[in-house]
Amino acid sequence: MDWHYIQPVDIHFGNGMLSCLSEQIAKLGGKRGILVTSSSFIENGLVKRLTEENPTTIATVYSGVSPNTDIKECDECSALIRKDKNDFVIALGGGSVIDCAKASAAFCLDNIPTSVYFEGKAQLPVRKLPLIAIPTTAGTGSEVTRVTVLTDHAHGVKTPLKAPVFYPTIAIVDPELTYTLPKYITACTGMDALCHAIEAYWNTSHHPISDAFAFHAANLAVRYLEQACFEPKSAIAREKMAEASLTAGMAFTLTGTTSVHACSYPLGAMLDMPHGEACGLTIDRFLRINAQSDKDGRLKRLARAMGYSDVEAVADAITELKFRIGLKNDLTHLNLTDGQIEQLVKNTQHPSMKNNPVPITEDILRNVYRSMVL
Ligand code: NAD
Repeated sequence: MDWHYIQPVDIHFGNGMLSCLSEQIAKLGGKRGILVTSSSFIENGLVKRLTEENPTTIATVYSGVSPNTDIKECDECSALIRKDKNDFVIALGGGSVIDCAKASAAFCLDNIPTSVYFEGKAQLPVRKLPLIAIPTTAGTGSEVTRVTVLTDHAHGVKTPLKAPVFYPTIAIVDPELTYTLPKYITACTGMDALCHAIEAYWNTSHHPISDAFAFHAANLAVRYLEQACFEPKSAIAREKMAEASLTAGMAFTLTGTTSVHACSYPLGAMLDMPHGEACGLTIDRFLRINAQSDKDGRLKRLARAMGYSDVEAVADAITELKFRIGLKNDLTHLNLTDGQIEQLVKNTQHPSMKNNPVPITEDILRNVYRSMVL
């Protein structure tokens, strides 16, 4: 088996680690940075704290990022970077903020609209401004991936763009920043981490390093997600979920994602579902489908490592976990028409599908979506 391993992000992990931000800015030689964030961090005073602690080096704040960041927000942020001549970027927020910052740190240098890259009409850049990513959710792992996931809400399309330019320069992972996450967002984001781990593991491009990260992350997420939901200030649960998210990110950035994420893009773009909840809708369903062709017993080994007797037991446990932490297991409330189901099937034809260990036909997909509306 031939494989390649790279993880270029300089990672700092631990409770209270946010306090090393000034030191990291100095390490980059940053003079006039932009802090990219969402309005909730203006409201809770964290932006004020960081700008007061770094009065000269944080020169600009862009707080216009919304969940499932839109390509228009990347254009706004890039324009602000050019106007204020910022020389580095800090992302403080969930995956939506980090992805907006990743795109803007790269696209600002070429003055080409984000839509052009999004539609694949220009090659992705190779240069970017240095980027410090500070995640405030535990789920996407975006702080260590070469992916930015953007949405064109006007056309109902969501897609990941992948290139080495999107690796942040530095990641500061401080689990204490996740203590304010409400239960539902903890559940959605943690489910995303669990899906990254499992999809990296069963991925057709898996290799020994991605397997090691995926095993570790799947174990942590399945053990600590429920506790993080119900005990938001549990230091151990929050730390272990931040670790699960980070290591799952390190796994799937090597392999890509598979069927579960391919389905999550149309579910997110067409039905505006939170990303992690959209992933959770299909993970147990695809576990059951992929288990049918587990010839070399890889999935069974993962199930055992996660503390279950077989893959069916893992799928059952995840279905039950979704109910307990308040995530949807079906779409019956939306009364989807046959036409909408066909549209979901059509829009699921994403390249990640090719990484699934079992070839997923349109009929299988149709059955997966139909099982959610019965
Ligand atoms: P999010 O960034 O969309 O945030 C969800 C909500 O949580 C927002 O309202 C946000 O303001 C709020 N929030 C964030 N941190 C908070 C905190 N500490 N306390 C209180 N509220 C807080 O959610 P997410 O799941 O982190 O990111 C989802 C996005 O990331 C999707 O677009 C998804 O496709 C993308 N994604 C990217 C990658 C990648 O590698 N780039 C991987 C997976 C997913």
